[in-house]
Formats: sequence, C-alpha cells, structure tokens
Amino acid sequence: MNEIVVLSGKGGTGKTSITGALASVAEEKVVFADSDVDASNLHLILGDEIIKQSEFSSGYIATVDSYLCTGCNICEQECAYDSIHVQNKRAFVDTMFCEGCGLCAKLCPEKAISMDDLVAGNIIYYKTRFGIPLLGASMTAKRERSGKLVSEVKSKAREMCKESSADYLLVDGPPGIGCPAIASLGGANYIILVTEPTLSGFEDLKRVFSLIKFFRIKTGIIINKSDINETIADDIKAFAEENRSIILDEFRFDSIFIKSVRNRKTVSEESKEMKVKIENLWKKIKEEAK
Ligand code: SF4
Ligand code: SF4
Repeated sequence: MNEIVVLSGKGGTGKTSITGALASVAEEKVVFADSDVDASNLHLILGDEIIKQSEFSSGYIATVDSYLCTGCNICEQECAYDSIHVQNKRAFVDTMFCEGCGLCAKLCPEKAISMDDLVAGNIIYYKTRFGIPLLGASMTAKRERSGKLVSEVKSKAREMCKESSADYLLVDGPPGIGCPAIASLGGANYIILVTEPTLSGFEDLKRVFSLIKFFRIKTGIIINKSDINETIADDIKAFAEENRSIILDEFRFDSIFIKSVRNRKTVSEESKEMKVKIENLWKKIKEEAK
C-alpha cells in the first residue's frame, strides 16, 4: 500500500481542492484521510454523510467529587500548574490548564479527585459521493494535542486500508510545519507539496521542504496559480531541481477553485478540461510514488 501525503507550508494554496479532485478520478482502491484536524474540510467537497464517530482520548484530567471535597486546600497548594482552586470550600479544576499529572488525586485526603480520560477530539468516518471512504477528525476546542490526533487518524485509516485491501492511502495534511504536520509524515512514502508563487508561499515551501528532507521522503511539487508571479514560479522550479524534486503540475489561476468550493464539489466535477488535467496528474503521482 502506498501512503501519499499532501502538504503545503501555508493555508490557502488549493491543497484540499487538489486532493479532493484526485478522489473523483482515482479508479484504484483508495482511502482518504483528512489530517488537518484543526480545520478539517475535505468532507465538504467530497460528501459529508457520517457513517460513525468515535471519541479520541489523550491523557487525563482531574475531576472533583464535590460531595466528598471538604475544601482543605491541599490540592490548590500543591498543583504546580495552578489549575485547581478552592472556592466556598469546594475545589474546582480549570480544565484548560490541568496537565493530568494526578498529584492532586494522590494527595487528596478525602479521595475526592479522580483522573478521567481527556476527550481531545472525535474521529469521523464519512461516506463520499465517489464511494471512497474518508476519515476526518475534529479537535475539541482549545486542546493542544492535535499531533496525537493526526497520528490516530492515520492509524485508523491504515486499518481501513488493510481491511479493504486498498492500494493507496491519500492524506490531506495540515498546513505549517508544526507538530500536526510532522505527525502526518510518519509512514509516508511520497509527499506532494502544493505551493503558490508568492514570496510567503515560496518561503513556506522552503521551510516545509527542510522538514521533509529530514525524513528523506521522495517529494513532488504542484504550483497552483502559477501565472500570478512567473518569476517566483521559475524560482520554485529551480529550487525543485536543486533539491532533486520534480514539478508534478502547474495550475494557472482559475476561479473554478473558488466556484467548486462554493458548490461543494471538486474542481474536476466543474469542468471537463480540469478533469482530464487531474486524471493526468493522478497518473503522474502514481508513477512517482512507485
Ligand atoms: S485536596 Fe481533596 S478535599 Fe482537599 S480541597 Fe482538594 S479536592 Fe477538596
Ligand atoms: S492533575 Fe495535576 S495539573 Fe491537574 S489539577 Fe491535579 S495537580 Fe493540577
């Protein structure tokens, strides 16, 4: 099974539109995973019928039984994270800051504190219009464990590939080069980088490229809106050559990208020419990822 991850150093490059369009032309057995867990949106263009959901727990959080708490204050005094406070002789946990270390539960003389699983998000199984399974996720607001959730999405997607004997796992990765992007690279054997020829786009491409270099994964580049600055587009091509990468394809600026998102469709459903272009792109990706 080939695992291909689509990344971009920054948001707004058209990464999800291009990944989604590949779903509409792939004839092989493919499983799609949306690992942009902070702003997952691949399902919006592929179809968002939810088949099932499961909770994702990451670590623990303290919970106080207010009937047992006597307000002795020991927990508040000992918590190194200032995340449990006593008011009106009852302890309250600040769930935003509790690190789940469990010290308060150990020290509480009344055994009033329990350590519960921290639900950090949900894994969602979608049925797409193209019959291709899609796994997505949603992060519980203000929880900073998205790297772990990305790993979990990928692990569940791999299980699904195994069950269905899929040929490809195609992962829409998160933007940036932080923890979620790093987590999305684990196990990948080919990376597609979607960029645009702007100064910030090129800088972000270089940053994400330096991260991939570290993982030594074969990489191809797609330049979206390639005509908005042909000088920078040429610089990107030279950069690709210097770094033994190839330009998989170029897309000229096309309002079809905006229109398709508005219509909740893929770009290949919006025009025949685009469908042919995406079909050729998919062929090239398969050749490169062998
Ligand atoms: S240590 Fe236990 S009893 Fe004391 S304030 Fe905290 S929760 Fe309440
Ligand atoms: S589990 Fe640790 S961080 Fe959370 S309230 Fe208790 S002592 Fe503080």
